[in-house]
Amino acid sequence: MSIVTRARADLAAFLPYASARRSGFDAPIHLDANECPWDDADDPLRLNRYPSPQPARLVTELANLYGVPSEWLWVGRGSDEAIDLLIRAFCMARCDNVATITPTFGMYRIGSRLQGVGCRELTLSADDDFRLDVDALLGLTDADTRLVILCSPNNPTGTPYHGAAIEKLAARLSGRALLVIDEAYLEFSGLDSVAALIERHDNVAVLRTLSKAHALAGARIGTLIAAPDVIELIARIAPPYPLPATSIAAALVALQPDTLARTRQRIAQLLDERERVAQALRALPDVVTVWPSAGNFLLVRFRDAQVAFERALAGGVLVRDVSGGIDAARTALSGCLRISIGRREDNDTLLDALRAGSALLAQLAPAGAAG
Ligand code: PMP
Repeated sequence: MSIVTRARADLAAFLPYASARRSGFDAPIHLDANECPWDDADDPLRLNRYPSPQPARLVTELANLYGVPSEWLWVGRGSDEAIDLLIRAFCMARCDNVATITPTFGMYRIGSRLQGVGCRELTLSADDDFRLDVDALLGLTDADTRLVILCSPNNPTGTPYHGAAIEKLAARLSGRALLVIDEAYLEFSGLDSVAALIERHDNVAVLRTLSKAHALAGARIGTLIAAPDVIELIARIAPPYPLPATSIAAALVALQPDTLARTRQRIAQLLDERERVAQALRALPDVVTVWPSAGNFLLVRFRDAQVAFERALAGGVLVRDVSGGIDAARTALSGCLRISIGRREDNDTLLDALRAGSALLAQLAPAGAAG
């Protein structure tokens, strides 16, 4: 039984907007889309024209990059858009629910709330290095659970979830829920994508993005990889022209061999920096824990996150305070900042700012004073 039978029943006969570029017809002169008719020579992108909803060359090149068939791909405006569309496609407001973990990327919960569906969260323990208990996550699901979303490596903890645990989840959710693995940071993990599982488990979907390792956050290119009938459903409910022509062009440049070679080299550089920064942070007296990370960031617990945040800011560096706020689920992250790995000189500026603050504190505190 296809997992699409678990999508919203009212979408089964849903017809997409019949856009000009979807009609299947073509002719040399386009008077079908109310566009401005002058194709100016100084505009090679032909921005007067609507782009293809799913440009064939981009789809093929992304499929090659991710090592999957083109029919498994839908490309949209960042993985954010795919998350939103998956929740809208599978979950009926006020009936269904989504299951995920916490702490994790906030858009799973926001997308669920926006659709009026519950988001059930398995709280992972910082003391247990955010280990995933697959049975406990399955225990959160019920007959109304349509999506189970996991981020690997997880933002903001950096923890990878892969191998037997994912396959067990996929098998146990078979015919019940779509298991969505968000691999936004996979390039920094050295791990293989779980996309190959789709061959055996049609209820697995994977999210990839060009926003992180491929340096294209501004272009907003995210890819959903899933079984063809899931892709067909998402394409049907997606807006008519999700991808701006400028972003398509930028993505094609990012996928050229020489750009890919630079990307690989920069990933290697960031991985070296990740280890260097982690070690330097561990040596600071104000740092309690630096968790191992498979992403391009580190989750760091300080004695006082607020003080560390302000020291970094005073040194000219903005980091992400994930320590608190009104969000009770984040208490697992008390004292924590998430620090993206930057260029070597950026990382040095941050380390200097944190060290300067520590030195000042050491001067002010009388020898042997507690706290
Ligand atoms: N997933 C995760 C885990 C993320 O951290 C982010 C961005 N912070 C996204 C998805 C969204 O990425 P995109 O730019 O592709 O929308």
